[in-house]
Amino acid sequence: MLLEVKDLKVSYGNIEVLHGISFNIDKGEIVTLIGANGAGKTSTLASLARLPRPEAPVVTGGDILYEGLSMLKTEPHTLVQRHMMALVPEGRHIFGNLTVEENLKIATYPNRKEVNKAVINAETVEMVYSLFPRLEERRKQRGELLSGGEQQMLAVGRALMTGSNFIMLDEPSMGLAPKLMYEMFRALRQLNQIKHITILVVEQNAKVALEFASRGYVLKTGEIIVQGSSDELAANPDVKKAYLGG
Ligand code: ATP
Repeated sequence: MLLEVKDLKVSYGNIEVLHGISFNIDKGEIVTLIGANGAGKTSTLASLARLPRPEAPVVTGGDILYEGLSMLKTEPHTLVQRHMMALVPEGRHIFGNLTVEENLKIATYPNRKEVNKAVINAETVEMVYSLFPRLEERRKQRGELLSGGEQQMLAVGRALMTGSNFIMLDEPSMGLAPKLMYEMFRALRQLNQIKHITILVVEQNAKVALEFASRGYVLKTGEIIVQGSSDELAANPDVKKAYLGG
């Protein structure tokens, strides 16, 4: 088991938003967590990534095991380096005033003023560019001039630059035209198949998420209400009604 979330409870202040959720991911799997607005998807990812932000949720119960070790006892900054997990956050957060290439460099050298000093792994950059040829075409273009889909690709590319073998994506389909969205998911699947990267994708778009992942969990107001293979979930009458437009 790569990741095991056990009875996880999470709060903002004294408001509990995750009421004891459990799920797991094996090495090499693509798993999805689907749910409506406010179900707790982003809070789940934030708890896993343990972003050091003031508005970060607080884990009040349960545990998160990564390769059998409790992550709750690990400093957040060591997670990327030691546990090799990377988060592609909702809304992308790329640097608009830096070029595509600089955005990729900064992933491995987090000093924005000295980004030119970054030594990047040529093989990894090659891999990112072969996965997303659009990024190579636009490597000298500033981030803010990219389209939404290209920015999303860049955000994924940046996560790959860290050399992580586990990537978590928060609503990668958000705001993308269908063609770009499928291009993105195709690239992610390729990554999973060729590089054996494990993927956890959080999505409001249940239809596309279940096409992409092999297994999934449905999160509703802080609880997991159904789980199963993507085929089982897609055929489940409740899931169909609530998340797949009937
Ligand atoms: P969305 O798809 O809208 O992003 P989500 O499934 O990712 O939804 P979360 O963002 O995890 O849901 O929100 C879960 C609950 O936690 C919601 O009720 C939300 O209002 C609350 N919440 C989220 N962030 C905070 C915060 N910083 N402070 C207080 N409450 C928060």
